[in-house]
Amino acid sequence: MRQETNFLNFQKEILNAKNILIIQDIDGVCIPLVKDPMTRKLDKNYIYAAKLLNDEFFVLTCGEHEGFRGVNRIIERSLNSKIEPHEKHLYLRGLAACGVEFQESEGKTSFEGISKKELKFLSEVPELMRIKFRKISKNLFPNISEKNIYLNEKKSICDTKFSPTINFNSLFDLALDDLNKKRSIQLSFEKMMNEILNEAESQGLKESFFLHISPNLGLKNHQEIIKLSTISDIGSTDIQLLLKGAQKDSGVLCLLNKFVGKRTGKMPFGNQFNFRDCPKSMKEKILFCKKFIRKEDMPLIIGVGDTVTSQKMTNGRYSRGGSDRSFLEIIQLLGENYNIDNKIIFVDSSSGEVCRPSTNTDNFDGITDEKDKLKFDTVFKGGTSEYIEWFINIAQKRFEFRRKL
Ligand SMILES: [Mg+2]
Repeated sequence: MRQETNFLNFQKEILNAKNILIIQDIDGVCIPLVKDPMTRKLDKNYIYAAKLLNDEFFVLTCGEHEGFRGVNRIIERSLNSKIEPHEKHLYLRGLAACGVEFQESEGKTSFEGISKKELKFLSEVPELMRIKFRKISKNLFPNISEKNIYLNEKKSICDTKFSPTINFNSLFDLALDDLNKKRSIQLSFEKMMNEILNEAESQGLKESFFLHISPNLGLKNHQEIIKLSTISDIGSTDIQLLLKGAQKDSGVLCLLNKFVGKRTGKMPFGNQFNFRDCPKSMKEKILFCKKFIRKEDMPLIIGVGDTVTSQKMTNGRYSRGGSDRSFLEIIQLLGENYNIDNKIIFVDSSSGEVCRPSTNTDNFDGITDEKDKLKFDTVFKGGTSEYIEWFINIAQKRFEFRRKL
């Protein structure tokens, strides 16, 4: 249970800090998780609240802003207008495609650090996936009709610009309660995505891409470990082909560069800095920040995510992962290194359509563990709706606070 006094103090610190920066994931945090990403919905009032926060708010997501699957289309649907979000600057500002695609709130996207050859290969990936998808689904479900393959293909392959993705949810539905079948789906498509990586290599793009598995069980030999289904946890639901360097923790550095740049008039890492320029390890990233960002320019950062995993292995150790882990960890570490009380917020997204571990167990099984370095300052057990309610309230109060400054 949340301790109300702690929670009130936590809220007070955020409201009274001179400089704050909220960096927030999207799916599962402000949009409930759904099996078909095309049915995602976003609360109108949340959009207006994000606008109130002005430059104290950024999103950081592995989805994309643009394209017919993009978050910008969800905003337009929610506001029932394609003009209002552009004119009133109501698009969510920040980084999408895991740190590659940036936009300000008027909705104009930009990207840096990607070669033409990489973009061309990315544009060909969805068709490669479709051909392989048909073969794999026939193998997994020998009696499946052509029409059904086509319908599932539409739902499963996300032909996004920077991060083509295979999503397993619609095929999981076909597998019903067959756990082995669900695992076969996960393993077959992991193999498929590795074949696509090999194809990139053969075209001279060995250093260009990597596979991002959500949720995952951490890294082994620099590769993300797939989380196979169990009875209580569906495990990994999608795999994305991402540009190397496109990681949320690097995204935090890119966003800090923009935040500090806007406040001080000088971008600490330079005007051209992008995700490909980020140092690799967490330690190097922190040293890099310490070198270029002064303490007085560093805001109190609030990181908000819903995908953090921890699973006890047979040897008693924990395998820890989750696509929000790295960016939440770097926010926590920056706080420690700058002696600023950064906040980590976890939103429980398990009540959506996707089966995930929930915070209803005392020790947060499947999410975190006692020895986990990453600590949550507050947890929204009530999921997206509870978080959105809090967010709207904070945004309004923060707006009032800044108006009086
Ligand atoms: Mg999420």
